[in-house]
Amino acid sequence: MANATDRTPPLQTKFPTMGTTIFTVMSALAAEKGAVNLGQGFPDFDCDPKLLDGVIDAMRRGLNQYPPMTGVPVLREAVAAKIEALYGHKYDAASEITITAGATQAIITAVLAIVKPGDEVIVLEPCYDSYVPNIELAGGVVVRVPLTPGTFRPDFAKIGAALTPRTRAIIVNSPHNPSATVWTRAEMLQLQDLLAPTDVFVISDEVYEHMVFDGQLHQSAARFPGLAARSLIVSSFGKTYHVTGWKVGYVAAPAVLSAEFRKVHQFNVFTVNTPMQYGLASYMASPEPYLQLPAFYQRKRDLFREGLARTRLKLLPSEGTYFQCVDISGVSDLKEADFCKWLTTEIGVAAIPVSALYVDNDDQGIVRFCFAKKDETLRAALDRLAKL
Ligand code: PMP
Ligand code: GLN
Repeated sequence: MANATDRTPPLQTKFPTMGTTIFTVMSALAAEKGAVNLGQGFPDFDCDPKLLDGVIDAMRRGLNQYPPMTGVPVLREAVAAKIEALYGHKYDAASEITITAGATQAIITAVLAIVKPGDEVIVLEPCYDSYVPNIELAGGVVVRVPLTPGTFRPDFAKIGAALTPRTRAIIVNSPHNPSATVWTRAEMLQLQDLLAPTDVFVISDEVYEHMVFDGQLHQSAARFPGLAARSLIVSSFGKTYHVTGWKVGYVAAPAVLSAEFRKVHQFNVFTVNTPMQYGLASYMASPEPYLQLPAFYQRKRDLFREGLARTRLKLLPSEGTYFQCVDISGVSDLKEADFCKWLTTEIGVAAIPVSALYVDNDDQGIVRFCFAKKDETLRAALDRLAKL
């Protein structure tokens, strides 16, 4: 018999229905089956060696101890300067920019900072899979509003109908994962007008801000004074500089919101690793890497789309991000999740079922591929997909 002191007390799980995130599940299946992994979003190529040099240099210069809680000043200043240059809004680097351990930590920290138990938070489905559990962890009530089926555009009548006196915040994401839509200026103005008479905060997830195609502009919340005043804008260096594993991001928000954000940040991560921050700061001295990113990814998108167009998969638009969604109805009657398993196992290409990014697993016969891959990887995937 177990000694009483060895007994693990019974656990009342806070998340009875939660499984493992779809990105981990599909990457594991891709590895097990030797499939080309176009599921989880990450590049299979390396970053610019100059960026590595900056980090190594910082380590060798002895910049290896705790940085300031809010991030190293040179990086905060580089971020503020970039936002001002691109979007015309001046954030104070000292009081309005905070460096985070990637966007995922930024989002949960923002949610914990502003959502009180019982507050309603609007999410637009499908959405990145951390939003809903983050709101639940804060004791908030998740109010799900679907993006328009088929086009994934925001439906402002539905968003307006979801607003109540208890609405504390809305989480928006453009360029959008998984649909690859990019909100227009008109849509951002509609959001601004809708929220103007309210006290609702915006968590604006802009991690794909530098991946917008066909000459369109990223419409950051920072461009719209009525949104900037109520927004915590989240971004991630992982996406922009091909270093998703470094987990460094930032939040830009008015000083009062940043102060509240930092109260939580200081006690969940306290600080973000120092040499990465110095390396990123010196690399940001040139805007070239992020200015050339749209052309870099647009070429990959077009290569991938050309190949997919020869299959019976139906292409949805890809206006931004590094994702391409396809309608599978001409190929299969399977549910998206089963199709993705079949595609990984039998065809040798992993994808993400969009239904996994809805709480109720709404199935529209659409799956997501990531094209942040070497051309040879994309060609290998296309060779396999040509069978469809
Ligand atoms: N938001 C969205 C929409 C994403 O796609 C991602 C990428 N995983 C994140 C947030 C998280 O970014 P990070 O890897 O910097 O935590
Ligand atoms: N954001 C990436 C995606 O959507 C992956 C992030 C993750 O694995 N959590 O694929």
